[in-house]
Amino acid sequence: MTSGNSAVIPAFTFERLAQCGTTKARTGRFHTPHGIVETPRFMPVGTVGTIKGLTPQQVESVGAQMILANTYHLHLQPGEDLVKAAGGLHRFMNWSQPILTDSGGFQVFSLSKLRKISEEGVIFRSPRDGRMIDFTPERSIQIQNALGSDVIMAFDECPPYPATRSQIRESTDRTYRWLQRCISAHERPTEQALFGIVQGGVYPDLRREAAESLVQLDLPGYAIGGVSVGEPAPLIHDIVNNTAPFLPENKLRYLMGVGTYREIAVAIAAGMDVFDCVIPTRLGRHGAALVQGERWNLKNARFKEDFSSLDETCSCYCCENFSRAYLNHLLKVKEMLGYILISLHNVAELIRFTQEIRDAIERDRFAVEFAHWLN
Ligand SMILES: [Zn+2]
Repeated sequence: MTSGNSAVIPAFTFERLAQCGTTKARTGRFHTPHGIVETPRFMPVGTVGTIKGLTPQQVESVGAQMILANTYHLHLQPGEDLVKAAGGLHRFMNWSQPILTDSGGFQVFSLSKLRKISEEGVIFRSPRDGRMIDFTPERSIQIQNALGSDVIMAFDECPPYPATRSQIRESTDRTYRWLQRCISAHERPTEQALFGIVQGGVYPDLRREAAESLVQLDLPGYAIGGVSVGEPAPLIHDIVNNTAPFLPENKLRYLMGVGTYREIAVAIAAGMDVFDCVIPTRLGRHGAALVQGERWNLKNARFKEDFSSLDETCSCYCCENFSRAYLNHLLKVKEMLGYILISLHNVAELIRFTQEIRDAIERDRFAVEFAHWLN
């Protein structure tokens, strides 16, 4: 036996495969040192180094490929030095497939109080122990280099919504200067891909300008950031539709923080490839399930004697083995297994949604079969 046709494709290559004949949707394969990510694909979020409530084995069983972890949270606890001493984040959390780390920018700007922003970076008070922490582009990259994730994100300024045009202009320009500092600070470019983040708020010309200047830097991938920060959904569609066309076709395109059916479908139609959101596990912890495009509260009395599976079309461990009535019972008595099973199903559901879109693009049926999400 020979393996003559297994040409080695360099890490961080994005291979384009099928192209939708109607929309800009595409399928592809993103190569990383820890394996391939088949796109479009939803990426579950493991903020502090765990997809909440689920074992890596369970997460893998529902088709997860790349997962997320968060630089800000892992820096606060347990600290990147400890993770590095453990052999890096993959080994520490026992995830052998690709990992993407967020830069911490979003959390520094949204979660921490008492922050002071300057050209240098951001100083904020740790919510854990009250000590002052200095986050700069260099610091964020050092931490991500120590964690050893496959994809690392540039440290960006995340302005709130709404923000004025001049605030967005200033913040977008600073994000660009910070990106250049991130590139200089990055010490492992052959092992970790640094992605740039397009900001620009709701202003199409600023988004375009930001995208065009980032593309000049020829990065291994690009993200659209600053969405899902409280703006109405139609604005998310506008931002994505106004930004994606300016990102290179031969690079992976990542829409940050979006995890609802419609927004994912619309973004795929605009040519985006990967998505992340805490929604599936957050809903799971509240007893809410994503079923066939809807959200069901399984605590509801209507499930009390419903012995059918949560979703008979789903092949996850939850749906193959347990009834709605049992899940309703677990939630009523507040047993942790209930939250675990629903979280597992929810993660499975969003991955399956993107996988079904992938299959439809391959058959060139995406625009028809997913029309109800696109219009
Ligand atoms: Zn399921």
